[in-house]
Formats: sequence, structure tokens, C-alpha cells
Amino acid sequence: MLRDLHNHTHASDGSLSPIELIELAIERGVDELAITDHDSVAGVLALRKQADDFAINLVEGVEISAGWGKHTLHILGLNIDPEHAGLSSFLKLQQQKRHTRALEMAHKMQKAGVEQAVADVEVMLQEQNMVCRTHLAQYLLDNGVVNNFGNAFKKYLAKGGKAFVKDEWFELEDAIAIIKQSGGVPVLAHPTRYKMGSNQLHELIQSFQKMGGEGIEVCYPNIHPGKKNLLANWAQKYNLLGSQGSDFHSPDKPWALLGKFPPMPADVTPVWTAWQ
Ligand code: AMP
Ligand code: MN
Ligand code: MN
Ligand code: MN
Repeated sequence: MLRDLHNHTHASDGSLSPIELIELAIERGVDELAITDHDSVAGVLALRKQADDFAINLVEGVEISAGWGKHTLHILGLNIDPEHAGLSSFLKLQQQKRHTRALEMAHKMQKAGVEQAVADVEVMLQEQNMVCRTHLAQYLLDNGVVNNFGNAFKKYLAKGGKAFVKDEWFELEDAIAIIKQSGGVPVLAHPTRYKMGSNQLHELIQSFQKMGGEGIEVCYPNIHPGKKNLLANWAQKYNLLGSQGSDFHSPDKPWALLGKFPPMPADVTPVWTAWQ
């Protein structure tokens, strides 16, 4: 049984529609697929409207951006109710924050010499579901402002970059609470990607659990085997469920292939026991 519990569609910064994602997942032998767009359930809601039965077990999810001190964290909500009123209002506010941030970044880009940035981003905001930093990075690359995607973040969009705008997401506690209210399991996504030392990460995992967090991602692409063992130990120690997923965005991003990540250690209680 292959379960991939972290995936994006074009409802956020993925390149595929929800149906295309499902088709690719079936092709790759995935049996259970979670759709977890950044701060949006538009993809899973669109699927609910389709009468089709899919040859795959679908887990409705979301990946919420949240603040913890100076850090931005990503919290997966797995098996949420995407029609929950409180969650809908919460995500609507996140969308507004994203809209404002994209425009502020466009102004900074224009100030830094990217002509037309404001007008172009205004068009993007009208034409697509959401404008993430990934889209802005692609825009900078397409317009020859940078020579590769990584540099778009380094020189413009990441902290220290010319167009960086500080996130104003809800706090970690609020993200955990709204996921639980909507019936979902809150899971700390890719814990080793937050540029924290081991001590601070340990502190984060303990705080996350105290705030009501229920799981952590243990298995994801490129995780160092030693770090995977460390996360597995913490999952057991703090009674947290273990999750796994590719964080798939697009078929042309070979570092995150749908259905590909290291196996779950046998001594970790897997997150799917929560909905099986
Ligand atoms: P946002 O949520 O709009 O701030 O965008 C964050 C998304 O940008 C992440 O989910 C990644 O998909 C992508 N991202 C962040 N940092 C980088 C980076 N250095 N290189 C490539 N993609 C990145
Ligand atoms: Mn993304
Ligand atoms: Mn993430
Ligand atoms: Mn993700």
C-alpha cells in the first residue's frame, strides 16, 4: 500500500489540476493520496463536485503557513472537512494576506528595476487561484531578471532578498486549533527544512505537541537518514504520529517525485491509523 500524504495542485503552486494529479498518482502506483495545497482547499472542493469514483483513496488536506517566533512553519491538516465554516473563514483571511503580500513584493521588485512588475502581478492575481512566491520566482526567471529559480529566492524573494516581505501568518497555535476543529490531524511538515539547529527543532516539536499537534512528517525526499531516525525517535517519545509524503509540485521538479520518499520506520505509529 503506497500512501503519499503531501501534494500540491494548481490551487496553490503545483502545476497539475486535481484530476491530473490523481491520474499521475494512479500511474505511479499510489493507493492513497492527500491533496495539501498551501492555505487552500479549492482543489479538494472541486473534486467533491465531481461525481466520479476515483481508483485511489483520497485524503482531503491543506498545508497551512503559520508563524512561530521568527520562523514560518508549514502545518499539514490531514483528513479535514474542507467545507467546515471556521476553516473556510481562516483560509479566506490567509488568501487575503497572500494577495497583499504578492502586491507588496511586486512593488519592491519594481523599485529594484523590474519594470511592469506591479501591473504583471495584478494580472496574475486576477487570472489564477493564488500567487505564491513560487509563481513570482517563475516570473523573474521568465523575464530574465535571474538566471535560475534558486536565485529568484536568494536575490529577491527569500529573507535578505530585494523584494522580501515579512509574512504575517496566523500563529502556530491557531493553525493547529482550526485543523482540529475541522476534524483534521495537524502534522508538522518537513521539520528539517526550517533552518533550525537540533535543539531548537527539539523545542519546536515539544511545543507543537503541547499545543495539540498530533503528527510530524518523518519521511520525505532527501531527508538525511540520521535526521529521519532523530524524527522517528521524537515521534515515539512525544506520542506523535509519523507522516510521509513527496511534497510533489510538478513533474518537471525531479527532487520531489510523486510517491517517492524513504520508508516509514517500523517503530513509528503511522498517521493513517487516525482515519483507517
Ligand atoms: P509561499 O508560501 O508563497 O511563501 O511560498 C513558499 C513556497 O515556495 C514553498 O512551498 C516552496 O514550494 C517554494 N520555495 C521556498 N523557498 C524556495 C527555494 N529556495 N527554492 C525553490 N522553491 C522555494
Ligand atoms: Mn510550495
Ligand atoms: Mn511546505
Ligand atoms: Mn508542500
